[in-house]
Amino acid sequence: MNLRAVKGMNDILPEEMGKWAHVERIFRQTLELSGFREVRTPVVEDTSLFVRSMGEVTDVVEKEMYSFSRHDDELTLRPEGTAGAARAFLEHKVHSKEPLTRWYYIGPMFRGERPARGRYRQFWQAGAELYGDAGPVSDAEVIDMLAHLFTALGVKKFDVVINSLGGAPSRARYRDALIAYLTPHKASLSAESQRRLDRNPFRVLDSKAEIDRKICEDAPSILESLDDDDRAHFDALRRHLDALGTRYVVDPRMVRGLDYYTRTLFEIKGEGGELGAQNTLCGGGRYDNLIGDLGGPKTPCIGFAMGLERLLLATELPTEPRSNLVYVAPLGEAALPHALRLGRDLRARGVETIVDGKGQKIKNMLHRASALDARFAVLLGDSEIERGIVRVKDLRTEAQDDLPLAGAVTLLIDRLAAPVVGPAGTASGGPGPGDAGTP
Ligand code: AMP
Repeated sequence: MNLRAVKGMNDILPEEMGKWAHVERIFRQTLELSGFREVRTPVVEDTSLFVRSMGEVTDVVEKEMYSFSRHDDELTLRPEGTAGAARAFLEHKVHSKEPLTRWYYIGPMFRGERPARGRYRQFWQAGAELYGDAGPVSDAEVIDMLAHLFTALGVKKFDVVINSLGGAPSRARYRDALIAYLTPHKASLSAESQRRLDRNPFRVLDSKAEIDRKICEDAPSILESLDDDDRAHFDALRRHLDALGTRYVVDPRMVRGLDYYTRTLFEIKGEGGELGAQNTLCGGGRYDNLIGDLGGPKTPCIGFAMGLERLLLATELPTEPRSNLVYVAPLGEAALPHALRLGRDLRARGVETIVDGKGQKIKNMLHRASALDARFAVLLGDSEIERGIVRVKDLRTEAQDDLPLAGAVTLLIDRLAAPVVGPAGTASGGPGPGDAGTP
């Protein structure tokens, strides 16, 4: 039997985890500095939650959801994080406990899209939601925070793209304008866009079909349909971004794929690295009506989500070496209890330690220690135990020496903290192998 991961779903092996952990750490630090706190919601929600929030006539709801029935419930693996967070926000009446809520999340999402580089069927998103603030100051703050986050993550080139969809009256006006523009072209549109034209013309604007894109190039701009309040909101957002020195471009035809958006919309597009055509690193926007539409009080919100796989393709992070592992190699029965105790005591002092109980020859053990990228191998043979010492090999410099068994934990910790010394014992600023930490 040929067992393989499900198509479009990836294993993340331990050697890749260093980069993931780094990205997640910087994300958390950045968000927490801006007052966001982590929330974790289930991976599965009622299907109706996604249909109601994202919109029936959207790619995700029409074609991409992993839905199934279980115990009389119609369930779906979450394709995004905003709907579940909004459900949790309402269910726990968070709005009645605090006037402003800032949440962030990190977790896997599921969409049955055609897999490609940077596009998967299970992918990880880090995102945030800000409830109870109508902007536009918070819109600018969020966009500026993201620009700093991407810089801190080492994304060399990216563009911040913004637009406004306006509120309901502006959208209705734009919808009419769009239908009026697209209808004479209807016969030339893709079959899918023809079907969507009357029900949800916005989706024609983000169609990927070449013919639709061509026709949409001359479509009217939404910015012309904005009413005074929506226009003032968008102008203020731009002023605040200018004041912050955050560079952006306006794309009046960017509508993004979901129905819940109102007013501010934004994307961050990357360039270079291993990023190919899937270059939208982050997308977000305002959704001032969603909480109300789901049965809650009217609550203005803004949120965003970024795909972590894409982010990793766009950053150039070095693989972190596993530099502080101590590998304890007992060579014989008598050494075993000493090795186990040494391992336990090192871990108690915070040192990552593996005790190799597999036995075998010294050469094999050292080979395994190198393969694990250990910093030190500690060899304990019967004769060493008799003499009350351990033999320590520095696997970077190849230097070896003996340490007293009784003080080995402290001495090893001192050596792990000391700078690395050259192969011929030429110290690069720190003590040599023999004297490190020796009393
Ligand atoms: P969205 O929820 O569609 O606005 O997407 C937000 C971000 O999630 C995108 O900018 C991507 O970085 C990421 N993303 C969306 N869909 C996928 C996918 N199928 N595979 C990998 N990343 C994705």
